[in-house]
Amino acid sequence: MSVVTLEHVTKRFYQNIDGARSYVTPIDDISMKIHEGEVLAILGPSGCGKSTFLRLIAGLETPDKGEILFDNIPLDQIEIKDRGIGMVFQEGALMPHWEGWRTVGFFLTLRQREDEVPARVHRVSEVTGIGLEKLLAKKPRHLSGGERQRVGIARALARDPRVFLFDEPFSNLDAKIRSQSRVELKRLLQEFPVTSVYVTHDQIEAIALADRIGVMRDGKIEQVDTYHDLYHNPVNLFVGTFISTPLMNTFEGEVVDGLWQGTNFGGYRLRSDLDTGTRVTLGIRPEFMVLGPEGVGATVEHVTMFLPERYKLLAVRGNREHWEVTAPLDYPVEAGDTIHCTADSAGLLFFDTKTGRRIG
Ligand code: ADP
Repeated sequence: MSVVTLEHVTKRFYQNIDGARSYVTPIDDISMKIHEGEVLAILGPSGCGKSTFLRLIAGLETPDKGEILFDNIPLDQIEIKDRGIGMVFQEGALMPHWEGWRTVGFFLTLRQREDEVPARVHRVSEVTGIGLEKLLAKKPRHLSGGERQRVGIARALARDPRVFLFDEPFSNLDAKIRSQSRVELKRLLQEFPVTSVYVTHDQIEAIALADRIGVMRDGKIEQVDTYHDLYHNPVNLFVGTFISTPLMNTFEGEVVDGLWQGTNFGGYRLRSDLDTGTRVTLGIRPEFMVLGPEGVGATVEHVTMFLPERYKLLAVRGNREHWEVTAPLDYPVEAGDTIHCTADSAGLLFFDTKTGRRIG
């Protein structure tokens, strides 16, 4: 297991579009440490630079600026065979230094030299419950997508990697297999802790698997924290709205004599150094909206049931604004009804409208 350190890492790609040369910067001056044995998820929208982040750590790309270190040794000073990288992609698993194994075929090798199958492979097989022995009897092309990914993960783990890298490994699987595979992987990583980076655009996956989540946007890591801290203390509006199911409500408003005032909600005290007239966006997650006899009146436009989570989500319209409110499943309400709601003060998040930065 290794500590992975990124120091001011930047990666650019030049593009030639219709003869015009420009460049993209999928990794823009990132510095961070991935602790020994932790699972770090990199979460962000498509195109933000997640795969490039992973490929740099894998040594498949080299930084234009900055340095990546494994246990304080620069990656480019570690021989490829000594890097100990296990990697699993959407399309399947491979380890960059396994060229020989890959051509010969891992399955064949294992079956021909059954007595050399490390005890670890059997243990991995036991923990995953994937019945590796059974799967080994199949040719890789006869494995389903889910089986291939699980064998790939088990295979990489059995080699005792120093760093395990995952690039959306379950995104091509259907929902049921995806959630089973997630649980299995969690179990495996608990039994065999490895410093891991897990890239995904799916926040549920990140929350389920990671010890910490790095939220990425346009080549930068906006915040690295536990799910709990990202949820309660987002550093900016992007993180606040990205870590949120259902979506966070946002309301535009401004400071008036130290209080936040908006169209429907208002009267909330803000930091004392904010001048009257400063534009401030208020974020309130639907689960922090409190239904009751008092509060802001609004018309219910539609109701969506979330049976596993045991709530219903009301989409409502008040004076010139729309927002969402959660309610218990048995709360008697339907489209067209009028409701009243207030905001739980524990759930008020204030952001500078211009910069998006959190200010309260
Ligand atoms: P993500 O994994 O978050 O979807 P990527 O790291 O794949 O993002 O890509 C980030 C940006 O870098 C995209 O704009 C992509 O087009 C660009 N990019 C990635 N790899 C290359 C490459 N080899 N050459 C040129 N542009 C690239």
